[in-house]
Amino acid sequence: MLRATFIALSESRSLRSFAEKTALGQKLSSRFVAGLTVDDALHAAHAMNQLGLGVSVDNLGENVTNVDEARHSAQLYHQMLDRMAGEELNANVSLKLTHMGLDVNEKLAYEITSELVQHAARLSSFVRVDMEGSAYTQRTLDFVRRLHREPEYAGHVGAVIQSYLHRSQADVGQLVAERIRIRLCKGAYKEPPEIAFQQKAEVDGNYVKLMRMLLKSGVYHGIATHDEKMIRATIDFARRENISAEAFEFQMLYGIRRDLQQKLIKEGWRCRVYIPFGTEWYPYLMRRLAERPANAIFILKNLFR
Ligand SMILES: Cc1cc2nc3c(=O)[nH]c(=O)nc-3n(C[C@H](O)[C@H](O)[C@H](O)COP(=O)(O)OP(=O)(O)OC[C@H]3O[C@@H](n4cnc5c(N)ncnc54)[C@H](O)[C@@H]3O)c2cc1C
Repeated sequence: MLRATFIALSESRSLRSFAEKTALGQKLSSRFVAGLTVDDALHAAHAMNQLGLGVSVDNLGENVTNVDEARHSAQLYHQMLDRMAGEELNANVSLKLTHMGLDVNEKLAYEITSELVQHAARLSSFVRVDMEGSAYTQRTLDFVRRLHREPEYAGHVGAVIQSYLHRSQADVGQLVAERIRIRLCKGAYKEPPEIAFQQKAEVDGNYVKLMRMLLKSGVYHGIATHDEKMIRATIDFARRENISAEAFEFQMLYGIRRDLQQKLIKEGWRCRVYIPFGTEWYPYLMRRLAERPANAIFILKNLFR
C-alpha cells in the first residue's frame, strides 16, 4: 500500500511544484540527488570515480510540455558531456525521452536525442535512454534501435529493460540480436497485471533469466540492482560460464547501498553509479521512497543531523 501511495504522490503536480521550490524539499532530497547544478553532479562524479566507481549522470526531469524546456534540458547534457571529457571522468549520461520532448513532438525529440548521441560518439562517450512507464516502452525501444542503426552511433547509445514486464524476454532477444547495449532493472512504475508481473518472486525470476541472456550475448551490458540475491546470481553465473569481470558492469543508484558498491569494486567487479541532479527531483525521489518506504524515516533523520 505504501508503494502505491508513493507512486501516486510521484504523479501529484501540486505537491511536486511545492516541494521542488522549497529549501526544505531540497534538503530532504540530498541523500539521493547530487544537487541542483552541473557542477554539483560533476563534483559527485569525481568523488565516485575516486572510489573506483564509474558514473552515469541524469539531468532530472520528465514529461516536458514545451519545446524550449526540451532544448534547455538537452543543452545541459551537451555541457555535461564536454565537461566529463575535459575532466577525464569515467562517466556517461542517462536521459528520459519525455524530457527530450517525446510528448510534445516526436520528430523533434528524435532530433534532440540524435544530436546528443552524435556528441557523445564524438567524445567516445555513451547515452543511456532510461525506460519510463509502459505507455512509452515501444516508442523508447524504437528510438534506441533507430539511433543504433545510424552508422556512427552504434555502441554509443543503449536501452533499458524492466524485468517486471511480460514482454521483456522478447525485447531482450531483439535488442541483443542487434547488439544493442542494455541496462537490466526490475522496473520502477506501477503497471497492471495484464502486462507486468506483480509478485516479487516472479519479477526476480525473470530478472535472473534475462541477466543470463545478457551475459551470454557477448555485448557489454549493465546489471542494475541493489538486490544482493540478483548480484549473487550474476556473479555465480559469470564464474560458471567463464565470463570475465570486464564483460559487463553492475549499476546502482546514488546514495543507495554504498557499502555494496564498494564491496563489488574490492572484489574486482565493475560498478557504475547513476547520479541524478537538477531542480526536478520530486518524481525521482518519490519512486525511491516507493521502492523502500523506510527511506522516508532515513531521510527525516538526515534532516536533523
Ligand atoms: C542504475 C539504475 C538505473 C535504473 N534505471 C531505471 C529505468 O530506466 N527505468 C526504471 O523503470 N527503473 C530504473 N531503475 C530502478 C529499478 O527499476 C528498481 O526500481 C530499483 O533499482 C529497485 O530494485 P532493486 O533491483 O534494487 O530490487 P528490490 O527488490 O526493489 O530491492 C532489493 C534490495 O535493494 C535495496 N533497495 C532497493 N531500492 C532501494 C532504495 N530505493 N533505497 C534503499 N535501498 C533500496 C533494499 O535493500 C532492498 O531490499 C534503475 C535502477 C538502477 C540501479
